Amino acid sequence: MGELAGRLAALRGRIDDACRRAGRETGEVTLLAVSKTFPAEAVQEAHAAGQRCFGESRQQEAAPKIEALPADIEWHFIGGLQRNKARKVVTAFPVIHSVDSLRLAEYLDRVAGEEGRRPRIYLEVNVAGEESKGGFSPEELLASAQELAAFRHLQVEGLMAIPPDEQSEARRWFAATRELRDRLRAESSLTLPGLSMGMSADFEDAVLEGSSIVRVGSALFGYRSYPA
Ligand SMILES: *Cc1c(COP(=O)(O)O)cnc(C)c1O
Repeated sequence: MGELAGRLAALRGRIDDACRRAGRETGEVTLLAVSKTFPAEAVQEAHAAGQRCFGESRQQEAAPKIEALPADIEWHFIGGLQRNKARKVVTAFPVIHSVDSLRLAEYLDRVAGEEGRRPRIYLEVNVAGEESKGGFSPEELLASAQELAAFRHLQVEGLMAIPPDEQSEARRWFAATRELRDRLRAESSLTLPGLSMGMSADFEDAVLEGSSIVRVGSALFGYRSYPA
């Protein structure tokens, strides 16, 4: 087994262990391999080891990889999304994790309709109310429920959160995100099966609190030599 295949198997094992500890079925949690900054060859190697979902945060960086790599890969967009990239993102990515405002969602709905697409989306929530971060505030999200439930060209799959850097606090923010999801579900017709939460440093805590998809980059591909 290659080095990357070994790391992939170890990660899957840790996710399964966390599922068992949480009393959840193994296989309930999707591993999204975050390949930003890494070359197509690294993705190819992970693909050969059975990985199918990959996450990218920049449209321009992702486009040549998507072009070059096998068509059975499911590409997820996880980065900041500017309107001028929205059309390209909607056509290249079936899943978008970083929908951070109602206005952006409205725009994506329109563009997706025009392009004949129906992407699965996650609403990014600023669960700790950090000044430095974008995303819906919990209040905004609850107030937007009717509009969010009415989109015809977006499948609102769930919430996405990146908790504050303080690692020891991560778990309680994951729990808060799940509670917010449950409340939004109770107050609207949205079903919101998805919770996109957990990264290399904290994905086990996220699984313990109900994550359905963990976004793991450096623990799989190694350290990034430049930020993305
Ligand atoms: C880069 C990135 C990740 C992966 O981070 P790691 O710490 O390398 O696992 C996950 N989510 C988002 C939104 C990212 O930008």
